[in-house]
Parts: sequence; structure tokens; C-alpha cells
Amino acid sequence: MDKIAVFPGSFDPITKGHESIIKRALPLFDKIIVAIGVNAEKQHFFPIQKRMKWIQQVFQDEPKIVVDKYSGMTVDYCRKMNAGFILRGLRTSADFEFERSIGQINKKLYPEIETIFLLTTPELTALNSSIIRDIIRHGGDASPFVPESIDLFD
Ligand code: ADP
Repeated sequence: MDKIAVFPGSFDPITKGHESIIKRALPLFDKIIVAIGVNAEKQHFFPIQKRMKWIQQVFQDEPKIVVDKYSGMTVDYCRKMNAGFILRGLRTSADFEFERSIGQINKKLYPEIETIFLLTTPELTALNSSIIRDIIRHGGDASPFVPESIDLFD
């Protein structure tokens, strides 16, 4: 059976941190679905079409990567996609506390699922999408923090 992982997130926008986790996870899985969770109550900065396009651009030469969006619970989406794994990145102990409860609840809701955590490489620990949004809001240059192949003004 193919090993399929879902990497869920907002990717608002994709950062070098996300890119690194996805690339490092490639040897572990046959397919990774980078899935943008759509939540009508959550404010986003970039439109979903742009967020999906940028991820597709970054991984255009990688056949194992699929980009998608979903609404509702992540475990229901995993079931629908036949995914046995949820991929998440861990930066800090705060991430760990947050991820632990979600991971444990997801396991209750869908016992076949395993959440796989990859530790961030040290130089990417400080990076998150909200810092990038702040830089853009204030007219700064966020390009060092996003994958090289994307242009946030495109
Ligand atoms: P969410 O909306 O779930 O917080 P994000 O788009 O912020 O989603 O992140 C998706 C996943 O990527 C999460 O598992 C998060 O921990 C991970 N991630 C985000 N930034 C980094 C980074 N700099 N290094 C490693 N993992 C990261």
C-alpha cells in the first residue's frame, strides 16, 4: 500500500521552513499532499489560489507532491484521500504542546492515522508565515524567507 501523507496548514504564504520539512519528508513517503485548510472563520492574508499556485511552483518538478485544499476536519480529509500519515513540523516547545493535543485527538478520531513530526533545522526555527505577513504589511523585503522560486508580488 502506498504511504500517503497529508501536510496540512495555512501556508499563508509558504515559507522556507515549510519547504524544508516537505523536502526532508520526501524519502519517507510515496506521496505528500500539501493541503491548505480552508476555514471560513479564519482570516487569511493571501487568497487560496495564490497560496496553492506558489506551492505548486516550488514543487513543479517533484511528482510525489500534490497540492490541494480542504475544509472540515483534517482526519476526515485524510480518510477521503487514503492517507495514513499527517506530517507536521516542530519548531519550539510551544509547537510541541499544541501538536500533542491535536495529534492525540486525531488518533482517537481516526485510529489508523499516525502523525509524523520532523524537527526544524536550527536556522529555520524562527521562521513562520505570520512574520512574513508582518514584513510585507510594513513594506519590507520578505524574499529571503520564502522559497526562491516564488514571487510574492506575482
Ligand atoms: P497552521 O495553520 O497549522 O499553523 P502553518 O502553515 O503555519 O499551519 O504550518 C504548517 C506546518 O508547518 C505546521 O506543522 C508547522 O509547525 C510547520 N512549520 C511552519 N513553519 C515552520 C518552520 N519554520 N520550520 C518547520 N516547520 C514549520
